[in-house]
Amino acid sequence: MSCCFVPPYLLAHIAEATGDPHAARTCAQTRALDAALRERRAGSPPALVVPSDADGTKTVYTAGGTTRLPGEKARGDDEPPTGDLAVDEAYDSTGVVSTLFATAFGREGIDGEGTPVTVTVHYGERYDNAFWDGRQLVFGDGDGVVFERFTKPPDVLFHEYAHGVTQFTADLTYADQSGALNESMSDCFAAMAKQRMLGQSAAGADWLIGEGLFVPGIAAVALRSMREPGTAYDDPVLGKDPQVGSMSDDVQTEADNGGVHLNSGIPNRAFTLAALALGGNSWEVPGQIWYAALTGGSVGSGTGFAGFAAASVEAAERLFGAREAELVGDAWAQVGVVPGMDPPARAPAEVPPGTVRVVRSGGFAGLVRVGSLALGDGPAGAEVAALLERTDFAAIRDVRTDPDRFVYAFVHDGQEVTVPESALTPELARVASLVLGEPLPDTP
Ligand SMILES: [Zn+2]
Repeated sequence: MSCCFVPPYLLAHIAEATGDPHAARTCAQTRALDAALRERRAGSPPALVVPSDADGTKTVYTAGGTTRLPGEKARGDDEPPTGDLAVDEAYDSTGVVSTLFATAFGREGIDGEGTPVTVTVHYGERYDNAFWDGRQLVFGDGDGVVFERFTKPPDVLFHEYAHGVTQFTADLTYADQSGALNESMSDCFAAMAKQRMLGQSAAGADWLIGEGLFVPGIAAVALRSMREPGTAYDDPVLGKDPQVGSMSDDVQTEADNGGVHLNSGIPNRAFTLAALALGGNSWEVPGQIWYAALTGGSVGSGTGFAGFAAASVEAAERLFGAREAELVGDAWAQVGVVPGMDPPARAPAEVPPGTVRVVRSGGFAGLVRVGSLALGDGPAGAEVAALLERTDFAAIRDVRTDPDRFVYAFVHDGQEVTVPESALTPELARVASLVLGEPLPDTP
C-alpha cells in the first residue's frame, strides 16, 4: 500500500501532534451521512431550511459537536449576545453580509425573497471546515492545532453566504470552470462585505480571504490572496498556496471538483484588477457590475470564465458606459480571459490497471490528500476490491456537490467518480479510509 500526501497534510500532523488518531475532522465529516442530503440530486436546488423556531431574518443554531442540522436554537434575531464566541460571531457576520446585499444590491436574504437565514455553529468535533449545504450555513470549530474556529474571520461566513446567493441566481455548477467561478463569486462578495465593514476602498484593502483562520505559528497571512493568488501561505504543514491567477497557469485536476479553489484565483484577480482600475469602493461600481452579471440571466449553471467576462463587460457598458466596459475587459485580458474562448478540456484521470486512487479535496481551504492502493496488495487490497465490487457508482454519480464540502474522487478501472462527503456510503467511506490510510469512525 502506498499513500502520499499532497501537500503533507493536516490529518497526519494533527494526529501526531495530539497523539489521538481520531482527532481529525474525518470523525465529523464521515458521519455527516445525512439521509436528506444523500437523496438530493443535481438540477434541483433545495429550499432553504427554516426551522419552526426561527425568527426575524436570521437565527443561529448550535450542533453542539454533533453533525445534526440545524441543531439547537442559540440566538434568535434581535436577541442579545450569548457569550458563546462562535454563536455571536456567526450572528454578527450574518448581519454584515445580509446588509451588504440589501443596501448595495437590493437583495433581501439569500434567496432574494427575505426568507430567514439559518446558521449552525459547533458542527462536528474539531471540524476543519465551513460550508453551504444548499439550505443553510454550517461552521466547524477548527482543530485548534492548525485552524481556528471557522467563524473567527468574518469573511469565511460572507463567502458561504454568497454561495447561497449564487445558488439562487446563476446556480453555477460546482465543478471545473463554472465551479471556480462559483468559488470566485463567493470571494468577490466576501471581499466587498469585508471592505465595506472596515470602510476600506479597493485601493486601501488587503484583498485577503480568511485572514486569521490559521493559529499563530502557521506561516500564512490568510487562506487566499485575491490580488496575488498563490502568495497567501508557505508553510511546512500546509505546503505552498497553490492558487493561480492567470489562464497561462490554469490547473487541470480531478481533485477539488476540478480545481475550483485553485482556478478561482483567475476570476478573483480579474475582479481585483477591475476594482482597482474603476476606483472607489469595491461594492459600488465593480460590485454592481459583478452582481448584475451574476443575476442578469446570461450567466447560467454551465458558464465559464469567458462567459462571465462577456456578461460583466456588457453589464458595465449598460450600467455605466464605454469607459467602464473597457476597464473591465482589460482586467479580464490581464488574467488571460478573452470573451468567447472555450474552457480547456480536461483529460480523464488514469491509474494503472488493478489500482484504485482516492483524492479527498474541496473544503473551504481547498487542501488535497491523495492515496492509491493496488487491489492485490494484502488484506487491505482485497477488502477494497470487495467493497468496490459492491458499490453502484451509477446510483451516486449525479449527486449535487455543495460548495466547500469535502469531496472524494475515486479513480478505478477507467472510471472516475466524484462523491461528496454527504453521499459517501459506508462502503466508500471504508475504501477512502483504507486507501488514504487514515482512521474513520463507525459508519451509521
Ligand atoms: Zn467556497
